[in-house]
Amino acid sequence: DHKYYRKWETNRVRTTCPHCGTGCQMDLIIKGNKLVGVEPADGAANKNLLCVKGRFASYKFVGAKDRLTDPLIKRNGVFEKATWEEALDLITKKFTGIKENYGADALAGFSCSRATNEDNYVFQKMVRTVFGTNNVDNCARVCHSASVHGLAHTLGSGAMTNPIEDITTDVDMILLVGSNPTEAHPVIGAQIRQAIQKGTKIVVVDPRKIDLVKDSDIHLQIQAGTNVAFANGMMHVIIKDNLMDQQFIENKTEGYEALKQMVADYTPEKVAEICHINPDDLRQAARMYAKAEKAPIIYCLGVTEHSTGTEGVMSMSNLAMLVGKIGKSGCGVNPLRGQNNVQGACDMGCMPYDFPGYQKVNQPKVIEKFEQAWGVSLSRNKGMTSTQVLPAAAEGKVKGIYIFGEDPIVTDPDTGHVRAALENLDFLVVQELFMTETAAYADVVLPGISYAEKNGTFTNTERRVQRVRKAVEPMGQAREDYEVFCDVMTRMGYLSQYDSADEIMDEIASLVPSFGGINYARLEEGGLQWPCPTADSPGTYIMHVGQFTRGKGLFMAIPYKEAKELPDETYPYLMSTGRMLYHYNTRAMTGRTEGINQIANRSYIEINYQDAEKLGIKEGDKVKVSSRRGEIETYAAVGDRVFPNEVFMTFHFPDGNVNEITNAVFDDIAIIPEYKVCAVDICPV
Ligand code: SF4
Repeated sequence: DHKYYRKWETNRVRTTCPHCGTGCQMDLIIKGNKLVGVEPADGAANKNLLCVKGRFASYKFVGAKDRLTDPLIKRNGVFEKATWEEALDLITKKFTGIKENYGADALAGFSCSRATNEDNYVFQKMVRTVFGTNNVDNCARVCHSASVHGLAHTLGSGAMTNPIEDITTDVDMILLVGSNPTEAHPVIGAQIRQAIQKGTKIVVVDPRKIDLVKDSDIHLQIQAGTNVAFANGMMHVIIKDNLMDQQFIENKTEGYEALKQMVADYTPEKVAEICHINPDDLRQAARMYAKAEKAPIIYCLGVTEHSTGTEGVMSMSNLAMLVGKIGKSGCGVNPLRGQNNVQGACDMGCMPYDFPGYQKVNQPKVIEKFEQAWGVSLSRNKGMTSTQVLPAAAEGKVKGIYIFGEDPIVTDPDTGHVRAALENLDFLVVQELFMTETAAYADVVLPGISYAEKNGTFTNTERRVQRVRKAVEPMGQAREDYEVFCDVMTRMGYLSQYDSADEIMDEIASLVPSFGGINYARLEEGGLQWPCPTADSPGTYIMHVGQFTRGKGLFMAIPYKEAKELPDETYPYLMSTGRMLYHYNTRAMTGRTEGINQIANRSYIEINYQDAEKLGIKEGDKVKVSSRRGEIETYAAVGDRVFPNEVFMTFHFPDGNVNEITNAVFDDIAIIPEYKVCAVDICPV
């Protein structure tokens, strides 16, 4: 390959993969103004590895023929090309009108966790300064908002505690909970597999027989939605066996007595009944975790996407603190963040409750700080999450939304309620690379630009801020995303302009203490992990060393609660959803790569062979899957990856979009949807 590219290339540019939060470094190979290939580079997180998505699906979509190249205005139901002047004038007129007639909180913005930190920073600044509302959010709301809330509450910071290298090198065991890294974060999955080959033990806690189960020492195949019971059972065994770290608990934590009292009730037998596991396996897993010296908890959406998502995350903190495995090498609580820059979109304040750097919107001193820096008066009102904005739009309370690089029609649960919300809006702006399902509902569509057409930074799952570098020119009339937001701001009365992305990073550094020492010159050396408060700080490799960010770590006594919709006679199967290796979320990028589509071109539902036999369904058969929200058709994948009475479905494909039937119920704290549990029925078509 290397020789092949050398014949073609006219240039190569080092950048960061645009798919998952691993943050792999790679070189884009350029011929003229066209990307012709990708090669892996030696990044801190990937060490010259790339997965199939980074290697093959990171460049063809950039020059795809169906890229949006001009602003579009919908007239009489049909999109027509428009100039930037026309489109921006219309946006200004409509959003200003909504604000004047219904108040600032009738507006909202959803930012893009695939865009750069700089774009996200300017986006939330636009929403807060000229829309005048805190109704700003990003797709973390539907994936890891529970981590942000749960870890911040218990530890003081909502981010991964330890770096990827540290939790996959020379560790004694890994406790992998609700995470399928070989498909969702494949380079991390490969590093875990390498660790196992070198002797690391692994306990997999997952309702499915994911690939890593083959290499596991124990598989706790818990029923989806029972994470809190599982964690309470682990802690019950650890305390009963006196395996907790008493000194750590006394010196560094608070709330232990209430936790101890609560988990006393969670005997292995009781937990085994709730989780559908063997009580001895639970005992063995608890002892293995407690006794290991270096043992990280690695978790993902199997913990967060529940009506008890935040409680599940806090349970992971409880477990790690109980055995003193936090603030140390090879330990910690480690959420694998999904999108390439979902960590950054949160860091940059694209969330209703936080200004950039998790500085709280409800604290007067923080508001004053940002008012002074930005030179405007800011809203004191509590903002809504994206999952609250959509129902509010359906009720007519939110009238105008600006969606930057998100596709909630495909990605949010219960598509019917998203459709009703978007159809009820007075005005919708969508800024995108392609005419997505959501963009089709817009009044104005603006062409966005891809990661390969811009300078900036992404922050990966291990808090590492890394450079994104421009490799090719934007297509057609498309221009810098942050410049478009600046134009909207200026037209709405707040003069705003940046000459370059690094100027935005300098502003971020001046306002966000954990980014205080980050600038582009320093990032040239391979990235910096926040907190990096000063120019001479090397960044923070492991968090909570010495003491927790919040002072003392906080134990939370959390009783188990059932998922909000469980199987019954009408809908007898418990369904979970998730990712497959070859595609990324809505397939906007991977779906435009021919080779990938040849391998994986349709949705499927995993069914246990016993259920399949009962229903007369064979491998590859077309089946109808229905829930209280609607019905879809997909194809059967028959086997033993799921238990009888449970099914699993991928979420990438518009034909058989599983979110037509998932359940739009939420956790009370992060307002994250319960994608991982709903009740369905299946029948052959
Ligand atoms: Fe890209 Fe993630 Fe694959 Fe790395 S593991 S190449 S970041 S998709």
